[in-house]
Amino acid sequence: MTDKLMVGVSGVRGRVGDGLTPEVITGFAAGFGAWAAGRAGKPRATIVVGRDSRVSGPMFHRAAIAGLQSVGCDVIDVGVVPTPTVQLAVEFHHAAGGLAITASHNPIEWNALKFIAPSGLFLSAEEGASMREATSKGVAPATWDRLGEVRSDPDAVARHLDAILALPYIDLEAVRRRRLHVALDCVRGAGGPIMTALLERLGCRVSAINLEADGRFPRPPEPIAANLGELEALVRRTGADAGFAVDPDVDRLALVDETGRAIGEDYTLALAASTVLRHRKGPLVTNLSTSRIVDDIANEAGVPVIRTPVGEVNVAIRMRTEGAPVGGEGNGGVIVAELHLGRDAPAGAALIVQLLTDAGGETLSAITKRWPRYAIVKDKLDRPSGGLHQIYDTLQSAFPGAGVDLQDGLRLTWPDSWLHVRPSGTEPIVRVIAEAPTEARARELVARARAPLDAMQSVR
Ligand code: MG
Repeated sequence: MTDKLMVGVSGVRGRVGDGLTPEVITGFAAGFGAWAAGRAGKPRATIVVGRDSRVSGPMFHRAAIAGLQSVGCDVIDVGVVPTPTVQLAVEFHHAAGGLAITASHNPIEWNALKFIAPSGLFLSAEEGASMREATSKGVAPATWDRLGEVRSDPDAVARHLDAILALPYIDLEAVRRRRLHVALDCVRGAGGPIMTALLERLGCRVSAINLEADGRFPRPPEPIAANLGELEALVRRTGADAGFAVDPDVDRLALVDETGRAIGEDYTLALAASTVLRHRKGPLVTNLSTSRIVDDIANEAGVPVIRTPVGEVNVAIRMRTEGAPVGGEGNGGVIVAELHLGRDAPAGAALIVQLLTDAGGETLSAITKRWPRYAIVKDKLDRPSGGLHQIYDTLQSAFPGAGVDLQDGLRLTWPDSWLHVRPSGTEPIVRVIAEAPTEARARELVARARAPLDAMQSVR
């Protein structure tokens, strides 16, 4: 293993040819397969494998499958599909686990392997530790007569679509009558086929760009507002009711309103959740760094917000224990429990189409104005060598009236603002995020949090 490779709880990530090689992928896939088979208590386990559209995808796909076969795992290959489609296929096939070959929203030179548990959730911290321990001394390769077999499942996307359209929150007849016009940008990731098929089945007229699933991203693939200029122009040019952008593995959704303005990924979860919560009451689960716009949405629906440490699996597990109908992350990741406990951009898109249908003639820009707007300021600095708890104590004393949450770093809350200081899980940095009604107030909170951190670094 090299220091260029980032090994986390639920996956391994690196730059192609610079840390991440087929040998690395084969090794991790074999380790995961052997561990999953052991957990399943079966001599022969089945693992579902899928990938996004990245140029390095076919190579790593073959490498991952070879690794699984080498330890006697049978493989169900779902091909180029969204990550949520892989998660759903794991559940559908009652597989011992799944592998998604995708670096999500990361730039073109990255790829990664993500480990999926039999539940369809990503591996938890406990499961990741168990796998590392089980595979630390290597895994036994299978002999020629016990190698795994491979079969393909071409229907995974169709099942995923059917499941979304069958959600009780979607009134298919009403949506089809509305005949919305939607502009779509799939950044040449895995989303082209499923997003166009979904929108057409919802009766939408679609004006699309970057549908080719060849991984040649024409722009940075993260669906943040700064990267959506082409979609904004497409909305204005075509007069669409809304624009949808997804990331390469189709678990994040960003929205552009009818004026051609990206409204910020924080709104995706908030608006999708408002649609679910009108039908089913229950807590809204999200992470500690997500915009408090979700608090406004939850207040309106009369349900509580439950915050978890950052990381999709933390949100998913908490949704399961709380019986939450909806949750997700402020980066455009919507989780609909009725479907499955993973971020799902097509499900989010269907909920937004339903929202616009229910709103009658009201536009997306008018809908977003129903709720207050907040400014989020994000900063980061090198992680100090000393303990962070001292800083948390200092900050708590500096803000005696604030609510305190210590699940993941320190989060301080006030009625209309919050401040989150947390060490990154993947880089040697500390993230400082604040949200407030005005940018000036958010900047002030970040500055006050930085002061003790900067002081600590200068004495290093
Ligand atoms: Mg993603």
